[in-house]
Amino acid sequence: MYKFLLPVFFLMFVTTGAYADSNEYDRLFGEVTFTVEETILSNDISITYHGKSLRLADKILSIAHNSIKILNKFYENENIKDCRVQNLHIYHINEKVLNNRKLMSFLDWSLWDNSNIDAVYDGTSFPAGSSAIFIRSDVSSDYYLSKLISHEMTHFWQYRKCMELNEYEASQFESFYRNNRSMTLLAQQEPEL
Ligand SMILES: [Zn+2]
Repeated sequence: MYKFLLPVFFLMFVTTGAYADSNEYDRLFGEVTFTVEETILSNDISITYHGKSLRLADKILSIAHNSIKILNKFYENENIKDCRVQNLHIYHINEKVLNNRKLMSFLDWSLWDNSNIDAVYDGTSFPAGSSAIFIRSDVSSDYYLSKLISHEMTHFWQYRKCMELNEYEASQFESFYRNNRSMTLLAQQEPEL
């Protein structure tokens, strides 16, 4: 079953390279402008959307927020403390920019044989204390959007907990997220104590 699913997942990867230069994103940000920036606090994690759509900002931030809640359940038996306090930035960018090897030169493209990507998590290039998810802005399917974000949020979680970055678990989490999403809806209806 997993082998069947593999071709669907091959566009979603994670970078593990150790890049310390805080100017890694300068070239990218010199080319891209964001008209919508919105931040939420999810537990103690600050998550900021950078893009051009207010509607998608809300949607993407709520998938990210719900992913964090559900990742707690997904990894509940592991009870691993945070080892890196990372805030998260989600950049919603044009597919051509995302796949521009010069602008995105901080990614180690050889990790996925230099194929084009739809989304990527980068925990290492951003200035200290933050990490980033880049996602192409022309994804119109809600199903695919939640799949991409829940997948990359798993890498964020793995990185934050200093766990091994694991593609298999990130792929597993995509369907776990879908199947457990009702948990977050119910939780929202409960009064805060
Ligand atoms: Zn991945």
